[in-house]
Amino acid sequence: MSRVAVVTGGNKGIGLAIVKGLCKQFNGTVYLTARDASRGQEAVKELNEQGCQPRFHQLDVSSLDSIHRFQQYLEQEHQGLDVLVNNAGVMYGHSKTAPLVEQVDVTMEINFFGTLNLTKVLSPLLRPHARIVNVSGGMGDLSHVTPELRQTFRSEQLTEEELVQMMEQFVSDVKLGVHEEKGWKMETVAYRVSKMGVTALSMVQQRQFDADPGADVVVNAVCPGWSRTDMGGASAGRSVEKGAETPIYLALLPPNVSSPRGKYLRDKEILSF
Ligand code: NDP
Repeated sequence: MSRVAVVTGGNKGIGLAIVKGLCKQFNGTVYLTARDASRGQEAVKELNEQGCQPRFHQLDVSSLDSIHRFQQYLEQEHQGLDVLVNNAGVMYGHSKTAPLVEQVDVTMEINFFGTLNLTKVLSPLLRPHARIVNVSGGMGDLSHVTPELRQTFRSEQLTEEELVQMMEQFVSDVKLGVHEEKGWKMETVAYRVSKMGVTALSMVQQRQFDADPGADVVVNAVCPGWSRTDMGGASAGRSVEKGAETPIYLALLPPNVSSPRGKYLRDKEILSF
């Protein structure tokens, strides 16, 4: 049975570099997914010219319909999944003039809820020793929130329901204009909070998967480092290949690895959250 790896937001940037790396190092079929089919197919063509043979499927992580269509396809075609890299993400830079409420809705929907929903829907397909990589980021550093919020994010008792409630509360606090007094004081607020959520979610998910230790499903969050992409900009210090290195390492962790499991990493090293 062929093993299967899936990368979200694979049509450009770090996602494209992860697909390329997996095509070379993963023993199985690699799916480049993208929300826009023509951008995705273009990227597949580009990789074909470089000797890589990923397959393509449309996947918009902010659409439950699209997620369910992809789940049904994977089930029929492969009956399982071995690697899931939740890479898709958006960030409104300082130059973006969209209203704050829209920025928060879109960013949370894609970065946090997209990661949550996709993993939830695909989880029944996960085979033993499956690896999940959630691409987070250093901007989701907890130094940007109050000690009370920090403690909740870090709690080893935090449940998925509580985390989702926290994220929904943040969105509604922004809509009511009370987010600053609730402790969410920071620039590019939505992106930072979405990535705090993604890192905390990875830890919560590992505790959930550990309920079945024999399955050996491992989830980690990763900061790729500031990389030269449309999001990172031209002055970033890293190439996309460097940014993709740790996500690829985490996607290929060997069976029954004792560490890292449910951790947050950069440059293959575990960081505190
Ligand atoms: P890019 O903007 O270059 O690429 C983002 C990718 O995500 C694109 O393929 C984009 O598709 C896709 N995407 C956006 N929304 C959706 C959606 N709803 N469904 C599916 N795909 C979607 O960003 P990077 O490559 O720089 O970022 C990749 C990840 O790394 C992100 O999660 C980002 O937050 C994280 N990161 C990046 C850093 C950097 O310095 N670059 C630093 C730290 C973290 P489309 O082309 O259609 O827009």
